Amino acid sequence: MVSGIPSDGSKNPSWFKKGHKNLCTREKSFWLGKNRDKATRQNMSKSHKNNPKVIKHLKELGKQKSGENHWNWKGGITGEMRQLRNTEEYQVWRSKVYARDRWTCQKCGRKLRDLVAHHKKSFKEHPKLRFNVSNGLTLCRSCHKKMHEEIGKQTRWKKKR
Ligand SMILES: [Zn+2]
Ligand SMILES: [Zn+2]
Repeated sequence: MVSGIPSDGSKNPSWFKKGHKNLCTREKSFWLGKNRDKATRQNMSKSHKNNPKVIKHLKELGKQKSGENHWNWKGGITGEMRQLRNTEEYQVWRSKVYARDRWTCQKCGRKLRDLVAHHKKSFKEHPKLRFNVSNGLTLCRSCHKKMHEEIGKQTRWKKKR
């Protein structure tokens, strides 16, 4: 992140540095907008829009945010998962997982019709475990979504470090 910023700093007015720091440390209150009225935020975003570095920074923030909050796990299972779901092997695997877990979400304990057989170890990275019942976990839809949001965070952390 620091790379790309000219070392002489002449192109970075002090307000930018200040604002930049604020964005990071006060990110939550800033983005939630709870501590600032709309006018202030609009003014800030307007002046920021003229600074390419801020735009870049905001884009990066946006990436992080959208990744955390709207991680599109459905996008990750497109063609391959759809195909897999149509196979008899998968159907059998899924009903075995459901039966073992007594058609109950293993996270919230609710017994719902809308269940998902989740692969504990990603079916993409562990193709051999795709039809391994012990790799399956019965989850309701909302817990499954949360689960994949968590996984998304974790894998990004791993990549970062
Ligand atoms: Zn649940
Ligand atoms: Zn899953």
